[in-house]
Amino acid sequence: MSKTYEYSDNTQLSPHFNISEFRCKCGKEHETLNSPELIEKLEKLFTALNCSKIIVTSGYRCEHHDKNVGGSGTGQHTLGNAADICCYGQDGQPISSKVVCCKAQDIGFRGIANITAAYIYTHVDVRPNGKWYGDEVHGNNTVTDDFYKYFGGEDMKGIDVSVHNGNIDWNKVKADGIEFAILRAGFGRLEKQKDEKFEQNYAGAKAAGIPVGAYWYSYAMDEDEARLEADVFLKVIKGKQFEMPVYFDLEEKKQFDLGKEKVSVIMRAFLEKVEKAGYFVGLYGSASSLTTHTADDIKSHYTIWLAHWVDKTNYSGAYGIWQNSEKGKVDGISGNVDLDICYKDFPTIIKGKGLNGWGKAANPTPVLDPEPTTDTTAAVTVTIGKDTYRGTLTKV
Ligand SMILES: [Zn+2]
Ligand SMILES: [Zn+2]
Repeated sequence: MSKTYEYSDNTQLSPHFNISEFRCKCGKEHETLNSPELIEKLEKLFTALNCSKIIVTSGYRCEHHDKNVGGSGTGQHTLGNAADICCYGQDGQPISSKVVCCKAQDIGFRGIANITAAYIYTHVDVRPNGKWYGDEVHGNNTVTDDFYKYFGGEDMKGIDVSVHNGNIDWNKVKADGIEFAILRAGFGRLEKQKDEKFEQNYAGAKAAGIPVGAYWYSYAMDEDEARLEADVFLKVIKGKQFEMPVYFDLEEKKQFDLGKEKVSVIMRAFLEKVEKAGYFVGLYGSASSLTTHTADDIKSHYTIWLAHWVDKTNYSGAYGIWQNSEKGKVDGISGNVDLDICYKDFPTIIKGKGLNGWGKAANPTPVLDPEPTTDTTAAVTVTIGKDTYRGTLTKV
């Protein structure tokens, strides 16, 4: 049960939390509701994470304010059971919300959710009944019953596609459990060799909420040609945003006939150019070509997308994605499709670094109140014939 405090109350509730931090931010000086269990658990969280501080960005909310920030007006914040927090480590940096969610689960908060795309802010609550483990980046539903499993780098299932896969129903692909897709952007060194379905696949996968990467199929026979291919690739993917890496795909026999040294020179030329342009770029290769035709410095610097169509690969090098079949069946795609398994949380890494078209805005510096504010009016200008009208529209 929550206790009620006067607006002006400055009671220190526990070593690290003062009731004033939980005041409603609607602007009216009304009372604050606060649950002792919330404070007790926040203290446990503080200790478990070895925090230097925990900032409460939103504690109690009156019904009016809760609705204003996008809530229902009856949620846990309106009962004094909830707090939106940012936890800081001993280094003064925010602790990832992924870590906070896991610890909050250990401590027994019953409502827990990551609430920002950069994984900096976390909602925690001590709701009387039920459980909500959410990740508002992915909607408002419960996403897991175990954050360790959810954030613990569980393998992601994916596909890679090109024009050869025809028209794809991306919503069906998503419903079938596919969690990422690498799209062929094109091949060679001419812009007209853009994959005919690249734009369609990009738009479809994005609309279905599937993280995407891209790859470029090479015919380059020397480093100059590889740079030309990189230029065309960069043109084709310009303006797009990729959650997954973008890859260089070199697998023509006449290229391998050049020998390991020359092949490695071609790879470096393409990879360096794309990397310098702000992309998280990697190399696609078969287990044998990676072993016999790829220099070690390339394999250690760039992320590897391993192609090995076997049940269990014996490739001993490191790789982020494994293409383990060319004969997969996935709803929404007719015929066979390449299947992939991803072992790294590329979306978080890439967005965190602001690469692949995400820019610096993907990794914002913390602000004190990340709650969304909903505009209820909009200024509009309309031209009818030769006359211009200006006014304010109000949301109903
Ligand atoms: Zn209020
Ligand atoms: Zn909240």
